[in-house]
Amino acid sequence: MTFEALNLMPVILKNVHSAGYDTPTPIQRATIPLVMAGKDVLGCAQTGTGKTAAFALPMIQNLAKHPPRPGMPRVIRSLILTPTRELALQIYENFMIYGKGLPVYPTVIYGGVGQQQQVDALHRGADVVIACPGRLWDLMNQGYVRLDWVQTFVLDEADRMLDMGFIHDVRRIAAKLPEKHQTLLFSATMPPEVEKLAMDLLDHPETVKVDPVSSTVKAIDQCLYMVDKANKKHLLAHLLSAPDVENALVFSRTKHGADRIVRELKRAGIDACAIHGDKSQNARQAALTKFKTGECKVLVATDIAARGIDIAGLSHVFNYDMPMEPEAYVHRIGRTGRAGRTGNAISFCCIDEIKQLEQVEKLIHQHLPRRESDWPMLITTPSEPKPRQPRPSKLNAQGEAAPQRKSRVPQPRKGQPVVIGKDGKVREAQPPKRQNQAQAKNAAPQSRPPIGRPVQRVNKRRNG
Ligand code: AMP
Repeated sequence: MTFEALNLMPVILKNVHSAGYDTPTPIQRATIPLVMAGKDVLGCAQTGTGKTAAFALPMIQNLAKHPPRPGMPRVIRSLILTPTRELALQIYENFMIYGKGLPVYPTVIYGGVGQQQQVDALHRGADVVIACPGRLWDLMNQGYVRLDWVQTFVLDEADRMLDMGFIHDVRRIAAKLPEKHQTLLFSATMPPEVEKLAMDLLDHPETVKVDPVSSTVKAIDQCLYMVDKANKKHLLAHLLSAPDVENALVFSRTKHGADRIVRELKRAGIDACAIHGDKSQNARQAALTKFKTGECKVLVATDIAARGIDIAGLSHVFNYDMPMEPEAYVHRIGRTGRAGRTGNAISFCCIDEIKQLEQVEKLIHQHLPRRESDWPMLITTPSEPKPRQPRPSKLNAQGEAAPQRKSRVPQPRKGQPVVIGKDGKVREAQPPKRQNQAQAKNAAPQSRPPIGRPVQRVNKRRNG
């Protein structure tokens, strides 16, 4: 089948071909006619299958065919909710590419940055709003966004919305949509909560299943190294220097871990940058741009930050740490092997991650082929779980963790006597207060009653 057979308008066909797409992917073939016909769709598609164009192309066509009448304001007619800022921006960029030359105006709304630019864009008028739920709800409450004219509502990556605790916001936003609208819900996995949400939001939907739930893309060559935690850094640096590694996305379980991997790679002479939730939006975008343009070969990311990121021609994904949830494995490795290309997914597993490995292999119905390295696993007893360290919460202008703020409790001056308070804090000792003679005379005796004996209070008559 060709794109021409999907009844897309000539400008869209031209844009799609300029983007380098020759034939529609299976999800596009199945979804585009349904969206054009105004049907609700429940799409179960893994990442990298061309899902964005599957909903964006027919939406752009519908909007372009019915532009606002002259003199009428441009109102929001399509709303797309996504879990992460990066995904929102990526969908926005796709709308710009697919809708080039057409009177369709998208805008993007997400948190972590000032709201003014987004508010200004809304005032200028947008037909399509691509938003993360938290900021959108915020702007709705401030009166900047009205959804009364929305015709098509898209919920992308619904399973991740659930994981990230957005489902409450999604329901509140959906409740503000007009009664009559089309809903398209996409999710790579279908846990029961997503199915329930789908039942509540969709009206007689057509189901589009492109691949069985939690299957991994066949074009990805997967393998596993059993390696001690302390040796992962050596193995990673060694594998990254192989000539077939054009660029690599490395997944770390924690934000601190991601920063540490970057430092270790830099020490080994490999340029790398990190993207995670403790970085400012600007720092995240800068790292992503550096990686996409090839300026930096290695991007180290946490799951949430990397969700939905589309990097054309990503050659390798490394699971430096095994994911805590097995589904994340499918999402992670789905960053490579996209749109008909091949890719490599290499996982590291230490003794403490055996349980996670078993869960992944159970989910994908596959035994990951083991590979040997110069750093075989020697530690075979799991380590004791460590107590969690408090994490720094503030960021500086570069998006790095700022040093902890100094305590506001005044510190004693040098050479002054100190006392330790009941709260355990050290304070300057106060000099004893002076008493006048009369006070000194009437003062209660200094000696304290012996411990254990009840204290008797006696009302003494004045001057008496
Ligand atoms: P998505 O699943 O929407 O994130 O798309 C994954 C990648 O596939 C993106 O880089 C798209 O540009 C690309 N893509 C989407 N549709 C096609 C197509 N029909 N042919 C080739 N590449 C495509």
